[in-house]
Formats: sequence, structure tokens, C-alpha cells
Amino acid sequence: MIEHEQISMDVVFVGAGPANLAAALHLKSEIIKHDELIEKGLKQGKAIGDLEIAIVEKGSFVGAHILSGAVMDPKAIRELMPDFLAQGCPVDTVVTDDAAWYLTEKRCLVAPITPPPLKNKGKYIVSLSNICEWLGEKCEEAGINIFPEFPAAEVLYDENDAVIGVRTGDKGIDKEGKRKPNFEPGVDLLAKVTVLGEGSRGSLAKQLVARLGLDQGKEEQVFSLGVKELWEVPSGNFPEGMVVHTLGFPSDTRTYGGGWIYGLKNNVVSIGYVTGLDYEDPMIDPHAEFQKFKTHPKVAEILAGGKMIKYGAKSINTSGYYTMPKLFADGVLIVGDSASFLNGQRIKGIHTAMKSGMLAAETIVGAFEHDDFSSRTLRHYEEKVNLSWIYDELHPVRNFHAAFQKGRWSALINTGLQFLTKGLAWGFMPHEHHVPGYERMQKLDDGVSNGKRYADLKFDKELTFDKVTDVFYGAVAHDEDQPPHLHVLDTEICATRCAEEYGNPCQRFCPAAVYEMEDSAETGRKELKVNFSNCVHCKTCDIADPYQIINWVTPEGGGGPNYKGM
Ligand code: SF4
Repeated sequence: MIEHEQISMDVVFVGAGPANLAAALHLKSEIIKHDELIEKGLKQGKAIGDLEIAIVEKGSFVGAHILSGAVMDPKAIRELMPDFLAQGCPVDTVVTDDAAWYLTEKRCLVAPITPPPLKNKGKYIVSLSNICEWLGEKCEEAGINIFPEFPAAEVLYDENDAVIGVRTGDKGIDKEGKRKPNFEPGVDLLAKVTVLGEGSRGSLAKQLVARLGLDQGKEEQVFSLGVKELWEVPSGNFPEGMVVHTLGFPSDTRTYGGGWIYGLKNNVVSIGYVTGLDYEDPMIDPHAEFQKFKTHPKVAEILAGGKMIKYGAKSINTSGYYTMPKLFADGVLIVGDSASFLNGQRIKGIHTAMKSGMLAAETIVGAFEHDDFSSRTLRHYEEKVNLSWIYDELHPVRNFHAAFQKGRWSALINTGLQFLTKGLAWGFMPHEHHVPGYERMQKLDDGVSNGKRYADLKFDKELTFDKVTDVFYGAVAHDEDQPPHLHVLDTEICATRCAEEYGNPCQRFCPAAVYEMEDSAETGRKELKVNFSNCVHCKTCDIADPYQIINWVTPEGGGGPNYKGM
């Protein structure tokens, strides 16, 4: 029996991403404002005083596990900190031009007008990892405690199912489950309010939503996987400040997907490809889709003579408004991508994540003012979201992703209609329900796959890279002597039903070569091998497995990728 030390805080934020960092900073400044007004007699009520605020983060530093394209709409950060640039926010480049390309196998059709949702002039190309690292420093300056290498492993509840904090993961357990000399038990961080901002497919948010039924009456979240590389290219290959989004090659018309190419400073290019994790063909491999994308003549031209310098992959919650769970329960709020705040049509979620965090912070001020941390007070967070510009932005595009599940062309017609009518057209059209990706994947004998999708794809290690090489460029590290953090609940299914029905798609949807089916002399068949130390924490396996038997849980703190500068 492991004894867990208890530490009492006022507010605990799980995950140091943009939503929670903005939330913690805003909470600090809103309390100061509130208390000043009380002191000056300009507001009724009681002063709150100094709160103990903690942010726990599984990465080795703030930003280590943060990955995005990314073009940041500064709307939220400007509200948080109007002088964010003067304060040193490390944006890379201002967007000076943008374009939308439709790619066929060999050709590139440039849209004469960039569709308005993809217009980005005046916004910022950023490394979201760098932005979060900087926001983390701002939090520490404001007196907020940040604990990197502390993964929150479990939600703690009282006898009435109110959330009372989180338990962090134990350290120093070997792969057999025994204590090593450096063993340190996890800590119970008790809090009046816990805020889950773990990003896409948060592992605690998943537990919480299931236990409290926060998804009742909501549609299931649908995800995509973004695979990204940073390249240094010869001067003149691609202009700094240029933003290109692509549709078409290599995705087929039944699969949601598209690419991006962003020009950063010093001839660095951010290039990536998003594949909807609601694809039908079980032979699809999102990492291979990205590699194929780079072989398009127009794309390869940009990368010619350059070299890849970094790699990463992350799931994105692309389904939006209809798939937001209830955002509160007793003692807890959910913010950012964990709660579907991303705008799938604009492929942007940093600003909405930050704003959700700020609205959560304002709600928490009210909770401390009234000493009430139950749903009665915390429900105001959801009301604030629905009265804010988040609603104005996400509600009109509420059907965007579901429309793609009917195929690219019907989605584009739907999107055009909704854009012209500001979402009103969807009020008159049948509502398209989001179907979770694991239900959409077809079996091999359904004939959706010809198995030749990547027949021409070769990894030349100049333009195209295999997964193991890419993982090296993600600087991924885990102590191998620990229990695997990928819990496959029934490996018999892998060796039998899944092999026959889907051809073990985990080998393809994982962008880090974690899953392999290996010949076993013992059983005389192929058995699952899990190379967990390669894991880039994208959560795709937890999302896309057709039998839903893979559970991603937090590994020992500090393990995982290092996305600094990504
Ligand atoms: Fe992503 Fe799962 Fe592979 Fe880890 S094991 S990289 S979470 S798909």
C-alpha cells in the first residue's frame, strides 16, 4: 500500500498548455483587481487574498509536449496581456501573405482568392512550445507554482463525486512494477477547484467525463492527427511570413485531410499534414500521408536542398461545438482542446483555448468570492463561454467536420453555404451527427482498401523519412525501466480478430512506430509488441483503435518528446 502525501492548494491546473497558462495568469490578475475594488469600497463582497495556485505538467519543462502548426490569432493573448509583444512574447513572424492550394497528384491549383477562414494576414506564426515556455515564466513571476515532470495520473473525488484534486504519478517503479531505489510516491494535490487543460484527448478528462456522464446528450468527439516537421531550406525557397494551406493530394475524397506550409524566420519552414482520424480505409497511415504530401512536385520544390531539423505529431480535436462535454462539475472545470474548443474550419484553437481558460479564471474568482466550489457557481463558466466570442466563432461552424464525413465535395458545398449565411443555412438542413472515428473504420473485406496506397512511397532520408528516424528528431525519451504507459486491455484481440478484420491498424495510425506485430515462436502467430519508449504522446492509439482497447495513461514524469522551438 503506497502512502501519498497530501498538499492543499486552492486551485490546481492540470497541464501547462495555452488554456491553463492563460487561466492561471488571468486568475492572479483578476483576484488583484477584485481585491483592490473591495479595498477601495467600489465593490461589495469579500476580498479573496493570495491563493495557492499550482500547475502540474508531465513534460520535463513547460512547452516540452506542446505542438501546433502554428498560426496564432492574437485575439485572446491581447485580452490577457495587451502589451504581449512589448513584454517579450516570442512570436516568430507576422503573416504577410497567404494562399490556398488544391493539389492533384502532379499539379497545384492556386485559389484565386484565399477562403476567408484561411486568411491570416497580420496574425503570427509561432512556436507554441516557445509561447508556452514564456507564459510559464510569466506565471512564475506572478507567484504561480509550476511543477514540471509531475503528470497528474488520477482525479480525486469525495464521497459525493465532487472533484477534490488530483494524484500525481509515482516515480521510480520498474517495468515489473517493483520499487526502484529512487522510488517517490505520487502526491495528492488537494484543491477547491481543479482545472483540466490537458489538450486533445486528455487522459484525466476522459476519466472524468465517463465517470460523471459529462457527455450525456452531446456528440462524441472526433479527432485528427497532425504530423509536422521543421525544415531549414535554402534562402529563396519559401518566403518568411507566407502561409499556405492545401487540400487534395494525397488524401482521397472520403478522407478529411490537408497540409500546411508556413515560412518562419531564418529560412525555417513549418510543414505538416492533418489526417482525420475518422478515415474509413484501415490501411491509412497518417505519417505516410504526410511523407507522400512532401513528394508533391510543388511541395518538394520548397524543401529541395534543405534539411529536416525537428519532428512531432499530435492529435487535434476537430469536431467543435456539438462535441463539447458539459464544461463543469462540482470542484472541476474543463478548458481548451480537452473540451473541443478548437475551430476546425480555421484550424485554430490557441486563441479559443486561451479564452476558455480566462473565462474559467473569472468563474473561479466568483467561486472564491462566494466560497462555493460546487456546480451551482462553476456552471457560470459554461454560461460565460456561451455569451463570449467563443460561441460566436464556434457555433456557426458547428457542422463543419461532420459534413466532411459525407466526403470532400459535399463538405465544401456545405461550408460555402454556411459561410454565406453565417451558419444559418445549417438551421434549415438536416443535422449531421459526428460519428466517432473508430466506428467509421471499415474492415479489410469491406473492399474500401486496395492495399496499394503507399506502393510508391520510399523513405530516402532526404525528403521522406521513416517513423523511427522521425522519432529521433522528436528527441523522444522515456526511461525504459518503467511500466508501459500504453495499456492494451486484450492482446488476444490484436493477434486474432484485429489481425483478420483490420490488419492491425495500430501499426499504421501510430506516427512513432510504437506498435509492431512480431512473429512469436511460442504461439506460432504474430503477437503485439509495444515499443512504448518511442511514444510522442499524440494519443492517437487511445482515439483510433477500432476495438477501443488501448488506454493511454501518463508515463513517469519528464518522459516523452522535446518540442522546444516546434
Ligand atoms: Fe501516439 Fe499512441 Fe503512438 Fe504514443 S503510442 S505515439 S500516443 S499513437
